[in-house]
Amino acid sequence: MPHAVSLLRAARLARSTKPFLARGGFKRERCTGCRLVPSHCMCSLRPSMATRAGVCLLMADIEPLKPSNTGWLIADVVRDTFAFGWARTETDPALLALLADPQWQPFVVFPGEYAAPERVVQDVAVDEGKRPLFVLLDATWSEARKMFRKSPYLDRLPVLSLRPEEVSRYVLRRSRRDDHFCTSEVAALCLQLAGEARASAVLSAWLDVFTHHYVQARNQLPVDADSEAHLRLRAQ
Ligand SMILES: [Zn+2]
Repeated sequence: MPHAVSLLRAARLARSTKPFLARGGFKRERCTGCRLVPSHCMCSLRPSMATRAGVCLLMADIEPLKPSNTGWLIADVVRDTFAFGWARTETDPALLALLADPQWQPFVVFPGEYAAPERVVQDVAVDEGKRPLFVLLDATWSEARKMFRKSPYLDRLPVLSLRPEEVSRYVLRRSRRDDHFCTSEVAALCLQLAGEARASAVLSAWLDVFTHHYVQARNQLPVDADSEAHLRLRAQ
């Protein structure tokens, strides 16, 4: 069963008038399950998990088409992942229904300095009987700011702003050099804040496995099934 981002990609492809060519000129055949060339397919490794938290991706127009989009990886791992294309002028009624669904307690994840202080929270405190739903803006930074400003249905949601110390702990653990996060890393941090350490670790490892397969494919090198990332994924 294709996941939410896969379905959104298919719908977006059906609407496009000219074929989308990924930057970097990947023109080879790709696996529809993982977007990699068949020789580097990672579908057999996909770790799908039932989590209490859900993820709602609001994706900028072109985002589902990018073979390197990492929202896809969230949908691989987190079973309750929802994905919607964002447009300023129209809103999918299914998105509004999801945000109004009483089982979910939505948080829009965004830097606190862009929101009124009374909306900003730094912890995931969920009311009894509710599940946290992380609304992530999957876009470039300038698109994400526009989406945040021009989506009135987000205005009433609390803004979950990731604490610098959480971010730097994550950066250290991942031995990264900067704190510009991709969407799946933001989701991994949110899962951690929601007390889902294992799902967070699996998603981090899954991103690294994807990156390994992607880079090896680009360089026309074989996959190392015992790479550090693969070992970490298997250890979860
Ligand atoms: Zn595949």
